[in-house]
Amino acid sequence: MKVCPSCYAVCVDQKWAFDEAKRERAMKGNGWEKHLCPGCERVAKGQVDGVVYLRGDFLKTHREDAKNLIRSVAEKKLRKNIAARIYHIEEKGDEIVIETTDRALAERLGKEFERAYSGHLDIQWQPGSAFARVYWTRDH
Ligand SMILES: [Zn+2]
Repeated sequence: MKVCPSCYAVCVDQKWAFDEAKRERAMKGNGWEKHLCPGCERVAKGQVDGVVYLRGDFLKTHREDAKNLIRSVAEKKLRKNIAARIYHIEEKGDEIVIETTDRALAERLGKEFERAYSGHLDIQWQPGSAFARVYWTRDH
């Protein structure tokens, strides 16, 4: 069994998951090895497959709501795909830029912002690549 030294996900039968009980049991014995999970591997390599640009005055007055939404979308996605991580978040005045290791996570973030707060959503794909740029804007 493999245990990720960075996020403590465990890999059993080729499948990575967060399982506290399995991890504790395994680490009591010798039948495990340290191995970066696919998510932490992407983070370590700096592999960014999506960027989300959240923009507008709305963010000045709803910054905490926005950050909570980012967090909950990322947590939900992580349970489905261990490799989908937020790589970096940068906050400026009326802008939050989120780099993700997974294109679908970037798309999901944009869609959930549109669903929660309407505003304007624009997703741009690069032909022939796994990369997406997601723009969500709301001014008031
Ligand atoms: Zn990990």
